[in-house]
Amino acid sequence: MLRFFLLALFVIAIAAPADGQTPSTLGFAKDPRIATALGDISPARMRTLDSTLVAFGTRHTLSDTLSATRGVGAARRWIHAQLRQYSTDCGGCLRVEYDTGTVVVSRAPGRPEARMVNVVAWLPGRDTSRVVVIGGHYDSCICSTNSMDFTSDAPGADDDGSGTVAVMELARVVGKRFPKGFDASIAFVLYTGEELGLLGSTQFAERLLREGKHITAAFTDDIVGNVVADDGRTDSTSVRVFAVDSLAVGGGELARYVWAVGALYQPAFEVLPILRLDRLGRGGDHRPFVERGIPGLRFTERLENYKRQHLPTDSLADVNFSYVAKVARLNLATVVSLAAAPARPDSTAYARDRNSGGQAFTIRWSPVPGAARYELLVRRTTAPTYTRIVNAGAVTEFLLDEQLDDVWVGVRSVGADGHRSLTTVVGAIGGPRLTTRRR
Ligand SMILES: [Zn+2]
Repeated sequence: MLRFFLLALFVIAIAAPADGQTPSTLGFAKDPRIATALGDISPARMRTLDSTLVAFGTRHTLSDTLSATRGVGAARRWIHAQLRQYSTDCGGCLRVEYDTGTVVVSRAPGRPEARMVNVVAWLPGRDTSRVVVIGGHYDSCICSTNSMDFTSDAPGADDDGSGTVAVMELARVVGKRFPKGFDASIAFVLYTGEELGLLGSTQFAERLLREGKHITAAFTDDIVGNVVADDGRTDSTSVRVFAVDSLAVGGGELARYVWAVGALYQPAFEVLPILRLDRLGRGGDHRPFVERGIPGLRFTERLENYKRQHLPTDSLADVNFSYVAKVARLNLATVVSLAAAPARPDSTAYARDRNSGGQAFTIRWSPVPGAARYELLVRRTTAPTYTRIVNAGAVTEFLLDEQLDDVWVGVRSVGADGHRSLTTVVGAIGGPRLTTRRR
């Protein structure tokens, strides 16, 4: 009995995160269809895909576009063909396209114009105007020696072959398991031009906004396969997620969402939310979305090795595909949960309750199509995530027994099948999406 007790203590001790923050599942309910789909993510398939990417020699955005075997053109035609095959295998469920445009490469000498060709697989939803974006960049470089060298080998197996193959594998598995799609559409995007200044993702973000799309969230998988640091430390059991904690835009809400989904579906794989846009001095394809007021988030391995990034040494042998698979499973659970849920409320309002002498607040929010009911989430302003969940029911006004001056309250939609939206924070003054009302 004592041994069992000590064992139980030991298990509790190793299960608790080192920094004392308890991951919360935020009241999410596990969807057995998602849990089943996670098992389809294949490390072996992703290894094969990444080895093909590396075999194109270089995928520099300005490299050869005509060769069938070498350069960025051959790489994107192969990615397109793979995605088309996945679509065939799911009865035509994916719409595969090139997203093209011409941009000035201001980082290059002489500021040349260049074609930007992203490859996109769409899984259309019931609402084709609402989109969840997940991408990785297929271009590579040896920028650490010469950012404009577009002829030498630039394997980019981790940066960002790892993210590219994770997104391709997601398109395959989500298409196969959910060929009819969800409430929102999903765009699986392989960007080009990342290493030249986020050019492909900027083009795609601007296109979606020009087309009037409502972008629920934009994720990027960038550098998601290394588990050994240069000093020999290893970590294959955690991943960093970078997002700006802007209450008005909702980046922090997105990080808390990923944190909760991870704790629910893959509890042995720790999500480390980092509430800043990106690593210091670095950028990624979520940034153009964040700059346009859209919640964006970056997935990146816990331990990077900067001695191999943007160099000929970014090789396949140093990518751990079991680890990439864990990231991809977290991606899948997150993206499907968000796409299956209704949108979050567009706007919220509050009023101090007179009957309680101002100790309670009436919270109101705009109704959301497809929402069966709503929940209010409460946290102290210093708390990393929500600690109280209140079921408001099928209403758009609720008297909450909280002193709103002292806490953050988020409102979220719940679909008929239990999927939860992102939260819209009440009283985040200055946000583009929010209105406030007093009486
Ligand atoms: Zn990258």
